[in-house]
Amino acid sequence: MIGPVDQLIVVGRKAVARGLVIGSGGNLSARLPGADACWVTATGTWLDELTAASFSYVRISDGAVLEGNPAPSTEVALHLHSYLARPDVNAIVHLHPQTSVLLDAMGHPVSLVTMDQAYYLREVRSVPFIHHGTVALAEAAADAIRDGCNCVILGYHGCSVVADTVELAHKRAANLEEAALATHRALALGGPVPACPPQYLDTVRRAEAAAAATRR
Ligand SMILES: [Zn+2]
Repeated sequence: MIGPVDQLIVVGRKAVARGLVIGSGGNLSARLPGADACWVTATGTWLDELTAASFSYVRISDGAVLEGNPAPSTEVALHLHSYLARPDVNAIVHLHPQTSVLLDAMGHPVSLVTMDQAYYLREVRSVPFIHHGTVALAEAAADAIRDGCNCVILGYHGCSVVADTVELAHKRAANLEEAALATHRALALGGPVPACPPQYLDTVRRAEAAAAATRR
């Protein structure tokens, strides 16, 4: 099994290839479950050129950069606040997906059209424009996911997508932009914008609750 850093390297390459972020925008992080430290992309790194040396190892509780590590991304606060808000989260993918951000800026909610989009995302929230790299933005994004939501559009900026694994965070981020593209196409065709029938998620939630009950 490959470790979180190697998984993030793959996600960075794929995210740029899919056009979910351009150049040195966006940043990625992961931690071992329950750990008070995370690997986060270092400042100035390009997501399609990541190596093991592109990551900073940062303590989550106080933001201290552990000795010998490069300076983390200027958006490190976004990651730290989200880990503090959600002990179950072990990976955070912050990208700049164009269609998601454009729809949000136009006041159109991103609709979850397909079963995949509904399954992986469940809900998309957004926070208004707040300058990137600030604690205010980190706090707003953390508040938006505190009750279990996993996907937030950051106004005029990008998205913050969280999960318990790097792979799932990546799937969610890719599905967000797919949903935004479908929403955009529906609007361009004159609408109305469809959404996956709610009985699908009702069925999924019942199955998940039954599975959780048998684990207890
Ligand atoms: Zn950003």
